[in-house]
Formats: sequence, structure tokens, C-alpha cells
Amino acid sequence: MIVEAASDIARDFGPEYWREKDKKHEFPEDFWKTLVEAGFPGIIIPENYGGAGMGMYEMVLAMETLVSEGCGLAGEWFLCLSSIFGGLSIVQHGNEDQKKKYLPKIAAGLEFCLALTEPDAGTNTLNTRTSAVKDGSDYIINGQKMFISGADRAKGMVLITRTTPSEKVAKRTLGLSLFLVDLPNPAVEIIPIEKHGINYSKTFEVYFSDLRIPQESMLGEPDKGWYLILDTLNPERMSFSAASCGIGLLAIRKAVEYAKERKVFREPIGSHQAIQFPLAEAKSKIEAARLLNFKAAWLFDKKLPCGAEANMAKVAAVEAGTEAVYHAMQAFGGYGYATEYDVERWWREVNLIRLAPVTHQMALAFIGEHVLGLPKSY
Ligand SMILES: Cc1cc2nc3c(=O)[nH]c(=O)nc-3n(C[C@H](O)[C@H](O)[C@H](O)COP(=O)(O)OP(=O)(O)OC[C@H]3O[C@@H](n4cnc5c(N)ncnc54)[C@H](O)[C@@H]3O)c2cc1C
Repeated sequence: MIVEAASDIARDFGPEYWREKDKKHEFPEDFWKTLVEAGFPGIIIPENYGGAGMGMYEMVLAMETLVSEGCGLAGEWFLCLSSIFGGLSIVQHGNEDQKKKYLPKIAAGLEFCLALTEPDAGTNTLNTRTSAVKDGSDYIINGQKMFISGADRAKGMVLITRTTPSEKVAKRTLGLSLFLVDLPNPAVEIIPIEKHGINYSKTFEVYFSDLRIPQESMLGEPDKGWYLILDTLNPERMSFSAASCGIGLLAIRKAVEYAKERKVFREPIGSHQAIQFPLAEAKSKIEAARLLNFKAAWLFDKKLPCGAEANMAKVAAVEAGTEAVYHAMQAFGGYGYATEYDVERWWREVNLIRLAPVTHQMALAFIGEHVLGLPKSY
């Protein structure tokens, strides 16, 4: 049912729609409204809070289908911002009041964002400097975040702050705390960052100047934010693996259609092994990455350790997806460079997944250390 519903939506919001939205830097209001009406943001939200009560497996399936059937990265992006960054963080660590306040609204389309990255805390989250200082029953927040996607539209933000200075904690991984911040707020300033792709969604520098929020806005326990946010970052990896596989499948399908028609000498170009084999190889790698990603999602839903699978799936998916789009572009020849054929946009989109949410190197470092048992490389 999920695949059918997602395919129907993706057919209505196909590549031409996204070409236009990307070109005009325009938020896809009608697409988001359709997703909300079909219940997609609520997939991962429990039924008693207005959602469908399903898990990451179903979410990954929905995202992958939306992406591969025509939406490109957008099929994953908006659901990740609201349902995973916002919804799943609150499902896992919110108290009853926070769940009642936010979850039904997220299922009904309330937009969220995640503010983790800072100028000096990208790959190394433990360098977080944005501070939250206790003042009576409130916290006062000051600092800067980088690359915060959707901060212009979000009505809620999961914010990672430092509540205890790093020199005062017993362990490096302590001292960070999460907050739920209602937006917009005059103490939160956002400045757009021009970027290479995904121009239908904006990404920002965010400045906090004496933002006062009540103690009740803290998500989970104080000083344990590092451990709590990991529970959001694994599903985030799965969601971007779904996107990478989906973009790869979309690019392969379009390249195959083209390669069957396009004749340069006598036969269609798809009959040449130089065009056919790289696409066949990429398709095989994507199918393998999908299975690993489904396994990661299944483990997460069973509340079993899933970090190894989430990182390995991310590595496999980003390699396979990037390879697929690279060879698809080659199959299109010069037309692959023309915006009209969309491959160049998917190339811009898939390359983000090598850099975010976790960089390719850090996913490999995790596997090296935690799966292979090699010494920590950083
Ligand atoms: C379009 C876009 C949207 C984003 N949206 C969000 C968002 O909504 N919320 C949010 O919080 N963040 C967001 N990000 C931030 C993203 O998660 C970070 O860019 C990413 O985590 C990398 O951090 P950095 O850019 O600071 O890279 P750096 O940490 O500066 O790393 C630079 C390079 O060095 C490599 N490197 C660093 N240390 C090591 C090491 N020890 N071993 C090997 N290699 C190493 C990295 O892998 C990387 O290739 C977004 C980024 C982009 C581009």
C-alpha cells in the first residue's frame, strides 16, 4: 500500500515539477500538502498521537519509492526534516507533554528542523559551543549553527547545545543537551546559504542571541544529549541511504529509456557494453545496498543495535547511487549536461549524500572502529 500510494504521488510530482521548483528556488507547497493528506509524515508517529504507528522500515520504503518514482531527493528530504528530525526524536525521548504538544501536529504536517552542525562542530559534534545556561527555571541560549535546512519554515527545532563546559565533564561525550525550540522567535536569526542543489528547500546559518526557553523544553535528560541524538542520527542515515538508492534507480531507469531509443551509429546506444554494463553493475550494487538498508531499518524497529548496518548501508548506498547517476549521465552524452534531462540535477543531489548527514569518511571510520575493531582513526 505504501509503495502504491508513494508511486501515485511521485507520478503527479515528477521530474518536470522538481526541475521547475529547483530552478525557481520555490518550496513545493502542493507536494507537501499532498504528502500530508496521504499521511506520510505520520508513518513513524504512534497511533495514539495521530500517526500510523509504523516504523523505519515503512518510512524507508515510502521515501525510496517517492525518490525513485520521480521526486528525486525531495521525496526523502522533507519527510526527514519533519518526521525523523522532529517526530522520531520526540517519539524516542520526549516526555508525555512534549509528545502531546508536537506529535499530532507533526503527523498533520508541522515542519521541523534539526540544528546540530556548527562552524567548528561539523563532523565533530563534541565541539558544540552553542551554550545553554540555566537562569532560574529557564535556559538562555547563545551561539551559532551552520547548514540548518528548513529553518525558514520550521515551527519547531531540535537544538543541540552545550550545558556543561567540556573541561568540567567526566567524559567527553557528556555535557550536551537537546532542546525543542518553537519558531519563529525574535532571538533566532537565520541567514540563507546559497548552495549547489536542492534549491526547493533552503539551508541557513542560524544565530541565537539570548534565546530564553523554559526548562520544560529540554528533550530528554540534561548533559546526555550526545547519546540521545545518536538515536536520531541512525534513522537519518537510513533515510539518506534510501534517497541515494532511489536517485540511482531513477537515473538508471531514465538512462535505460534513453539508451533504448538513441541511435548514434546503427544500433541503439544501449546495445553497447560500455553503456549497458556500468548501468547493470550500478543496479546490482543498489539492490544490495537496499537490502542492507532494510535490514538496518528492521533492526531499528526491533530496538536492536543498528549502528553497524546503518553506517554500512550508508557507505554502500552512496557509492552505488553516485555510480548510477555518473553512468546515467554518460549514457545521455551531452544531453546529460542539459537541465532538460534532469540527470545533472540528480548528480547535484546525490553528491550531497557523500557530505551529509554524515560524511563518507566518518561512516567508514565508524565501520573501521566498531565493525572491524581497528584502532580509532581520529
Ligand atoms: C545542503 C546541506 C544541508 C545540511 N543540513 C543540515 C541540517 O539540517 N542540520 C544540521 O545540523 N546540519 C546540516 N548539514 C551539515 C552537514 O551534516 C555537515 O556539513 C557534515 O556533517 C560535515 O560537516 P562539515 O561540513 O563541518 O565538514 P568538516 O567536519 O569540516 O569535514 C571536512 C572534511 O574532512 C573530513 N574529515 C574530518 N575529520 C576527519 C577524520 N578524522 N578522518 C577522516 N576524514 C575527516 C570529513 O569527512 C569531510 O570530508 C547540511 C549540510 C549541507 C551541505
